[in-house]
Amino acid sequence: GGFQSMDLSAGVLKGVLRMGYKVPTPIQRKCIPPILEGVDVVAMARTGSGKTAAYLIPILQKLQAHSVVVGVRCVILSPTRELAIQTSKFAKQLGRFTDLRLCMLIGGGSMERQFERLSNNPDIIVATPGRLMHHLVETDLRLTRVQVLVFDEADRLFELGFSDQLREILSKVPSTRQCLLVSATLPSQLVEFSKARLREPVFVRL
Ligand code: AMP
Repeated sequence: GGFQSMDLSAGVLKGVLRMGYKVPTPIQRKCIPPILEGVDVVAMARTGSGKTAAYLIPILQKLQAHSVVVGVRCVILSPTRELAIQTSKFAKQLGRFTDLRLCMLIGGGSMERQFERLSNNPDIIVATPGRLMHHLVETDLRLTRVQVLVFDEADRLFELGFSDQLREILSKVPSTRQCLLVSATLPSQLVEFSKARLREPVFVRL
């Protein structure tokens, strides 16, 4: 099975093919179907494995098109600004044949400009946890329409001390949301967090 057999819509498939991808990587093969089904996934995958596209492709497929109803539908949490910038660029490229809107909220960026961009009603937010929390407190940003929440490089999110903020963010999204956790390593803290906070997650290892 290649990308063509994954039941992707024309726009999403076109984005994938335009990236030059011929076949899914092993992690994509294992992650894309359960993510499309809607279950929570904990994927052990490191940078270089194609882990970003493994969650972005099914997310673009699920969101499909820009929604005029106000409220972000997908939040991707990154441990660092650098990763957030990289992930946003990647999502924009991959999703260029959709009209999905993306907004990046990272520390160091101007709150005011980020606030302005939020008024554009993004479908996807890529954020560092601290800055996302800051917007939740300071602006009228709400996460009540979130369908998919991604913890990217989750081991680093925890190492960097974001665990309280992650719990807080989780408490602000609907309980029906889908959670995806991607991590190079799975220390016991992460396994416990996944079992306690996610809904019967499927563990994907290579
Ligand atoms: P990542 O593991 O997400 O950091 O991705 C590592 C690199 O692999 C990036 O440059 C991606 O563009 C590339 N990549 C992701 N999926 C595929 C694929 N199916 N075929 C070829 N390259 C890919």
